Amino acid sequence: MDTNPLHLSITDQSLTKLPPCPRCGSHHIKAREIAKTTGGLAGTITGAITGASSAFSGARVGLTVGSFISPVGGGLGAVVGALIGATTGCMAGAALGEVIDDTLLDNLECEDCLYLFSK
Ligand SMILES: [Zn+2]
Repeated sequence: MDTNPLHLSITDQSLTKLPPCPRCGSHHIKAREIAKTTGGLAGTITGAITGASSAFSGARVGLTVGSFISPVGGGLGAVVGALIGATTGCMAGAALGEVIDDTLLDNLECEDCLYLFSK
């Protein structure tokens, strides 16, 4: 008895998403996602730096206005800011990289004959 129809639909979706190999017609195609991986990493680093620096300036203003609340708040704010920045940067970088993968690079690889092609 198959009690998990969701698994089947995910498999079907991934099969229909990628085109067959233009050389041998195989459906064993995998996406290489070079730019997506690179873009995500670059976005993570850039976002962490941007998030941390903006959190630091925000913490400085916060300390000036209400230093009696919590001196720990500034440091915590910087960490949270860096995490938010890293997440946002990673998503933006990955999204940009995905566009590059789809449009500029031979992003698809046939696992049977190792032929590289794009959508
Ligand atoms: Zn092939």
